[in-house]
Amino acid sequence: MCLTPTLMARAIWEVDLDDLAARGIRGIILDLDNTIAYWRKGGVLPEARAWIEAARQRGMKLCLASNASRTSRVVRVAESLAVDHVGRATKPFASAYRRAMKVMGTSPSTTCGIGDQVLTDIVGANRAGLTSILVEPLSRRELPHTWLLRLIEKPMRRRWAGRGGLEKPGGKSTSQTE
Ligand SMILES: [Mg+2]
Repeated sequence: MCLTPTLMARAIWEVDLDDLAARGIRGIILDLDNTIAYWRKGGVLPEARAWIEAARQRGMKLCLASNASRTSRVVRVAESLAVDHVGRATKPFASAYRRAMKVMGTSPSTTCGIGDQVLTDIVGANRAGLTSILVEPLSRRELPHTWLLRLIEKPMRRRWAGRGGLEKPGGKSTSQTE
């Protein structure tokens, strides 16, 4: 099981689209809660919306893949962003990634997965052979079992940050962890 993200950024809107394009990325699989919107509520943050629009203008395809149990919310958010979605993603299992790539018409080498949780978003993207991008959660509010996962991932994040995974605010935000 590979836990290490390919790249890290403070937030999705700090992921460098030039860098993704240079890596040959044409499709982006997006996590929902705590990656582009606050957990379980509200709409997509304006910064995330602007980043998604910028990716679209570059001709990149986007697909929402959330483990959220309320499918109606996932559908609503996907429609508001005019992006595709795959329901009941069950990350880290690879099927959602395969479904998303099929919808976008991309392959593992041209697709990245972005999310705020190591054990679902990053492990899943790595298992599917994608470029994986870890962001910091937008808020601390989340499910109790997620809090447990955070405890597990905390030392990992610290180790990656020590290797230059996360840089100071104002610095180059996307960085290689491998
Ligand atoms: Mg999340």
